[in-house]
Amino acid sequence: MKIFNVLMGLLCLMTAPVSGLAQEKIPSKGLAAVSNKGKFEVYEFERHAIGDNDILIETMYASICHSDLHHVHEDWGSEEYPMVPGHEIAGRVTQVGKNVIKFKVGDYAGVGCMINSCGDCNYCKANLEQYCKNVVMTYHAHDQYHGDEITQGGYSNNIVVKDQFAVKIPENAKMDQIAPLLCAGITTYSPLMQSEVKQGDKVAVAGYGGLGHMAVQYALKLGAEVTVFDITEDKRQDALDMGATKYVNVNNEDELKGMDDSFDFILSTIPAMYEPAMYLKMTKYKGDFAIVGLPALDNQPTLTVANFVFLGGRNVYGSQIGGMKETQEMIDFSVENNIYPMVEIIEATPNLVEEAYQNVLDGNVKFRYVIDMKTLK
Ligand code: NDP
Ligand code: ZN
Repeated sequence: MKIFNVLMGLLCLMTAPVSGLAQEKIPSKGLAAVSNKGKFEVYEFERHAIGDNDILIETMYASICHSDLHHVHEDWGSEEYPMVPGHEIAGRVTQVGKNVIKFKVGDYAGVGCMINSCGDCNYCKANLEQYCKNVVMTYHAHDQYHGDEITQGGYSNNIVVKDQFAVKIPENAKMDQIAPLLCAGITTYSPLMQSEVKQGDKVAVAGYGGLGHMAVQYALKLGAEVTVFDITEDKRQDALDMGATKYVNVNNEDELKGMDDSFDFILSTIPAMYEPAMYLKMTKYKGDFAIVGLPALDNQPTLTVANFVFLGGRNVYGSQIGGMKETQEMIDFSVENNIYPMVEIIEATPNLVEEAYQNVLDGNVKFRYVIDMKTLK
């Protein structure tokens, strides 16, 4: 009987469907930061094989988020190089694993900040994979589900990802503008949903960059009256043209007068040192102050216990990207309502990416750099 079972087992193994892809690693080429000084080089590497639940995406566009700069410059702790950044990725599906039904070859797909999670914890079950203790970030992470390989991001010609961590991009989407939604879009859409911003609410967006200019568009679409805070005069007209009621240059103290207790909802996307208590004071009693901007670890803004007590009754919370279900909702909402980032498209060369990083640091981009990955040589 035992021998029979063993023979049957062997027979099953021989006749079981073999994906044919399972063993083959995927050659990939990207633009990698080679040190924390922000120098980039063309870099060839391999991605894990396409598993039964995975898809292979040929990258069309990848955009530059300020978080990429934080990672490359080791603002948030030590990193490993070469590092291919990029967690705002849009492309076309070129292969699918045998269990995949969500995508077929030729579909548009997008990938954001994460590519896997445990699928089993309370966060995963609640569609909040970003808070799973075993989430795998799209780059600069060790992928425990694939032999601890180091993940590499979207400034590359392809990516392999579990289908659940890719969103469907509608065929009518503006592909050269959609990549930033995969991080800047969801990171701002999610707290606006969490705080249930609605028609007539007074909303403030602090930091009018890649994230901020998405937040303004979503808040306007929800019917809010929007005020923008930034540190430059260069973006005043852009904010008003976009539909903001008011633009405040926080470097001009006069403009800040009389604004306490003004807003139902404030979103801070600021990536550098600032005074959060100033925004907490501007939040109405029972209003929400949501924080998504994440400055360097050695340059962290603080709210004190006294701030919370003396400015009591206001809700302060932080928010990290959004889960995959909400990311899909955000993509569908954005495409349906023609909400896209304003982008500057660049070719995929080390020099141009280095220049773009400098411009983001200097505040010289309106509003997101998108790398055309098809131009990578
Ligand atoms: P950008 O550089 O595109 O935009 C930041 C904006 O904030 C710029 O317009 C900048 O002005 C402005 N700014 C800087 N300092 C101040 C200040 N003191 N007061 C008001 N405005 C200020 O960055 P992103 O939008 O790409 O990212 C913003 C932050 O969000 C980053 O820290 C990033 O890491 C974080 N992030 C967080 C995520 C999350 O899940 N929570 C996800 C994605 C990003 P100027 O351009 O003139 O310098
Ligand atoms: Zn990002």
